[in-house]
Amino acid sequence: MIFQAKAAVADNKGSFTIEEIEVHPPGAGEVRVALKASGICHTDYDSLNWGYHHVLGHEGAGIVESVGEGVTHVKAGDKVLLNWAIPCRCCYQCQTGHQNICEKNSPVTGSNPDDGAAQAGTTRWRGEALKRSFNIGTLSNYTVVKQEAVIPYNVEIPFESACIIGCGVMTGYGSVVNAAKLAAGSSAVILGTGGVGLNVIQGARISGAAKIIAVDVNQQRLDMAKQFGATHLILADRDDVGLMKASEKVKELCGGRGADYGFECTGIPALGAAPLAMVRNAGTAVQVSGIEQTIEIDMNLFEWDKIYMNPLYGMAMPEFDFPKLLDLYSQGALMLDELITRTYALENLQQAIDDMMAGRNAKGVVVFP
Ligand SMILES: [Zn+2]
Ligand SMILES: [Zn+2]
Repeated sequence: MIFQAKAAVADNKGSFTIEEIEVHPPGAGEVRVALKASGICHTDYDSLNWGYHHVLGHEGAGIVESVGEGVTHVKAGDKVLLNWAIPCRCCYQCQTGHQNICEKNSPVTGSNPDDGAAQAGTTRWRGEALKRSFNIGTLSNYTVVKQEAVIPYNVEIPFESACIIGCGVMTGYGSVVNAAKLAAGSSAVILGTGGVGLNVIQGARISGAAKIIAVDVNQQRLDMAKQFGATHLILADRDDVGLMKASEKVKELCGGRGADYGFECTGIPALGAAPLAMVRNAGTAVQVSGIEQTIEIDMNLFEWDKIYMNPLYGMAMPEFDFPKLLDLYSQGALMLDELITRTYALENLQQAIDDMMAGRNAKGVVVFP
């Protein structure tokens, strides 16, 4: 049966409208999901300018409504998280343990309008096939996705707390644990304490970092960083170019030499090299926020033996990482409920986006009735 769904559709001009769309039954290897909650992330804002109509949203949790032929790992009624880096399991990267950067399916920035081959199922609008953000499009009460995009779970957790695992939590936590492989007892500095930065802080705390230094220009956000595990707070000056002054304070806190690890979570292109200024020689700088612009870098910042990493999606292996994150939540180690500042109806999505852009929320989540 074809379902009528309500969805946020990017209008191709930097904005979106709420539309009635058709969501068709799942084909072979596909799953139709009734979404219950969808987190809002900066990429959703960016996607308003991808230049083609598509269903917004890539951070979802819901219930399987029906499955297509050949789907065995989930059945109708199962609770699932959605994974936006859908692996093909056959390409070079998938076969060598890097399914987050699958060569076939992962649209990386989601900006390729011709990735039709990866477009599972059929979502139609105004009589034409409609694309979905990262081939999942979670800001809709129904979606059809490839079976590799759904991870079942059986943990007691509100949908709004669960859905954020699908992007912000995974990206932050994974950048610490999967990418940097942060060692217990070490020191870490986190630049920017938004939705992703707070999860880097949680990852560092859970990994046993001895010193977790949060840097932000907003005192309220620093207070939140403390709640999530930061041991030291540095209120940065907005005119501190490249955060060089803040880096002096970080060095002071870390034996004069700098932190073992630095994580950039600001999304500000000019700060792409800032974590390098914060880490000691042979330390590791991680660019978490996905900066893609051209910037100028003083190569002295790379001296000496420093490593700079740029992981996608926290090097996620969702079928292993999502259950692990849910276990950490059940044990009380991973704070998810506390990350949800506010929930919204789909009709109030614009407010949710405005609140995110103004930095009012740790995470805002759209919930579906
Ligand atoms: Zn692949
Ligand atoms: Zn995201």
